[in-house]
This record gives sequence, C-alpha cells and structure tokens, in this order.
Amino acid sequence: MLVVPTRAEFRRVLEAERRAGRSIGLVPTMGALHAGHRSLLEAARRDCDVVALTIFVNPLQFAAGEDLSAYPRTLERDLELAAEVGTTVVFTPSDVEMYPMPTLTTVHVDGLTATMEGAARPTHFDGVTTVVTKLFNLAGACRAYFGEKDYQQLAVVTRMAADLDQPVTVVPCPILREADGLALSSRNVYLSAEDRAAAPVLHRALRDAADAVAGGERDARALIGLVSTRLGAEPRAALEYVAVVDASSLEPLTELLPGVAARVILTARFGSTRLLDNIGVVAP
Ligand code: AMP
Repeated sequence: MLVVPTRAEFRRVLEAERRAGRSIGLVPTMGALHAGHRSLLEAARRDCDVVALTIFVNPLQFAAGEDLSAYPRTLERDLELAAEVGTTVVFTPSDVEMYPMPTLTTVHVDGLTATMEGAARPTHFDGVTTVVTKLFNLAGACRAYFGEKDYQQLAVVTRMAADLDQPVTVVPCPILREADGLALSSRNVYLSAEDRAAAPVLHRALRDAADAVAGGERDARALIGLVSTRLGAEPRAALEYVAVVDASSLEPLTELLPGVAARVILTARFGSTRLLDNIGVVAP
C-alpha cells in the first residue's frame, strides 16, 4: 500500500494505473476510520482494480466554533485498517498541500444545500463540494463511494458530478450501524457514556417511522410528529430537525406516494455532539 502526501504524486499514481487499464475506486474520508468507512473501501475493492483512500480533515467545511481542532485523528490505525482491506493508495495531504493559496474558487450546489444540514451549517456544503471537486480532479475518471449516512451530502455530490460533467460515478453505500442501531460515526467518540447509551433512540425513532409507513401511514406531518414524540421522550436528545423528503430531489413531502422512494432525515444533539441519521421509506 502506497501512502502519498502530495497532490502531484496522488495524480501520477492514479494516472499510471488508469493508463495500465485498471479501474479506480475512490473513497474520500476525514479519517478516524471505522466499520462504516471500511464498508466503503470493501465496496470499492469489490468493484474496482485500484482502491484510492483519501484522508483529509477539510478545514473549509468547518465553520468557526465547530469541532475542527478537536476532530479525532488516528492516522496510524487508519493505515492499518486500509491495508487490511487491500487499499492500493492512501492520499494524506496536509492543509497547506491541499490549499497552498487562499481559495478564491468555490463550488456551490444550489437548492439541495438550502435545507437541513445546509440551513444548520451555511458554509458547510460549499466546503464539501469544493474539496470533493479537487479530489475528483486529482483522481480522474473513477467510481467514488459515499455513505448514505450523510444522505444530503451524497445527493449534493451526485448532483454536482452530473451538473459539472465530472468523470466520476458516485456510488451510494448503505449505513453501517452498531448492534444497538446507532449509526457509526467518527464523532461518536465525543459522546459521554450516558449519551452513548441514549443515542440509539435515533434509529428506533426512524424505525418506528418506517414501520408506520409500511403500515399505511402516508402523511409526512404524522411521521414527523411520531419521530419528534419519540425523541421528546429521551431527555438527553435535543432534536434539531426531522424532515421527510423525496429521496433524490430532497424536496420536502407532504404525502408519500406509493412506490416513490422517500427518506426520513434527522439531526439531534446529545450534549454538544450533533448526530445525523436517516432511513429510506417507500409507501406500499
Ligand atoms: P467522513 O469521514 O465522516 O467524512 O465520512 C467519509 C465517508 O464515509 C462519507 O461518505 C460518509 O457518508 C461515510 N460514512 C460515515 N459513516 C458511515 C456509516 N456509518 N455507514 C456508511 N458510510 C459511512
């Protein structure tokens, strides 16, 4: 496994692989790898000849006062995990390597970024789409693996690649969860023992919503009410938002239409830690 800290080397390695006729699977991450990231690497390993992992805690997607300096960094363990799953090359740039000059150019996706995480963190998605565009430009033609865990991010990046003719196929990957239902996240390490014990309520509430849909509920307000009530009963959870949206346009729905994929998406705080989760639902 090759570990390369410079953009030039990363580009050169992947260009050579492509010239040799090998397909490339790109897995962009901020490190502190867990089984969720591993599942993305394994999907890339299954589909592609070459697996390219990127580890970069992107300052551009953190606002002042967010957890940039506290974000967990576990490079040594990350490299072990990457090697275990057969990663070919790991790109580990520093901040100055990624941004040698102040960035005057930003990639902005309209519409899809106006709600939910985009409303809660107004500069966040521009930071994401700008760094992901840089990674796509360095990697060249490839498949890029993103988790449904960050559902809005997945939708934004998918649309960006289509709008800008980026030579990248964005591949969605299912959410990996702990045995008690909590979605794996690098930020789970921030949780106190009490908050960690309470946090699976997010998945239980989403499951309840999915069960209600399977049982015939189609009214989005009723589903939002159900999730809010569930979370309201857990004193450690502070719900920021819950939305019922079309699974591809992210348009808020008032009513689920039979056979049309929708998504129930929420964010809640446990202490100062924000946790995101979501679930797919289809009315019968
Ligand atoms: P991050 O390192 O948090 O930026 O995440 C890197 C990638 O891993 C993103 O595409 C995430 O959606 C994905 N990811 C994070 N957690 C999970 C999970 N529990 N299951 C599946 N994918 C995940």
